[in-house]
Amino acid sequence: DLHIDGVVKSFGETQVLKGISLDIRHGEFIALVGPSGCGKSTLLRIIAGLESQSAGDIVIAGRSVAGVRAADRNLSMVFQSYALYPHLSVADNIAVPLRMRTMGAVQRLPLVGRWMPGAAERNREIDAEVRKAASTLEIETLLDRKPGQLSGGQRQRVALGRALVRDPAAFLLDEPLSNLDAKLRVQTRGEIAELHRRLGATFIYVTHDQVEAMTMSSRIAVMMEGQILQCDAPDLVYEDPEDIRVAEFIGSPK
Ligand code: ATP
Ligand code: MG
Repeated sequence: DLHIDGVVKSFGETQVLKGISLDIRHGEFIALVGPSGCGKSTLLRIIAGLESQSAGDIVIAGRSVAGVRAADRNLSMVFQSYALYPHLSVADNIAVPLRMRTMGAVQRLPLVGRWMPGAAERNREIDAEVRKAASTLEIETLLDRKPGQLSGGQRQRVALGRALVRDPAAFLLDEPLSNLDAKLRVQTRGEIAELHRRLGATFIYVTHDQVEAMTMSSRIAVMMEGQILQCDAPDLVYEDPEDIRVAEFIGSPK
């Protein structure tokens, strides 16, 4: 389970998260929605350990992750911008978190780490894990290419592949489909839903797409101005919004 407990975040004088609390059961698919600038990405980055909170706690599987660095949190984050390394092959891009986890500071540099003495056996394990993730996402034939030689949808799958190799307890997805055309978006949406069914991991999924939020999630968390106004099953949020701002944002009939 993942517990977000009174998380506050200030940038200078501005409080962008005003005490966020949310209890997420393992395996849930939570859609996180809300207007631009309400704090969705900031919350995800804090859960991932890429940003530190000003107050409050994140508890994963019963343990506070305060002070636990991002690479050791057993979470995978996928960004809107893919964040692939352009000079690395698809295979090396997918392998980045595996090398970060197991190797020291120098060896974390993907190309250096590959050739460090004694790394041969670990490299074989890494190759096997990369192939498994690539096969799940049907990108085995692309492993030797560079990101610049891929379509947007293929790049997105590489980014998902990199999230997958860590076998994380939770996936944090920040508008992962927003750069795709409508057809690819529908296809990749289906792939993510399938991935969720197969892995049984927790997904927190930020989206501006109402259809995605309504159809993919077990609960929708509606966020506004640094607070979560409601977190319920999609039909409940739609039919019984607790707050006029939720109703307006979701476009509820009442
Ligand atoms: P969008 O839907 O547009 O992606 P969001 O809900 O993800 O928006 P955040 O990126 O979390 O919003 O930003 C929340 C607020 O915090 C915004 O007002 C933003 O300007 C501010 N903010 C984010 N990062 C920083 C930073 N490093 N320094 C100062 N302010 C920041
Ligand atoms: Mg954002």
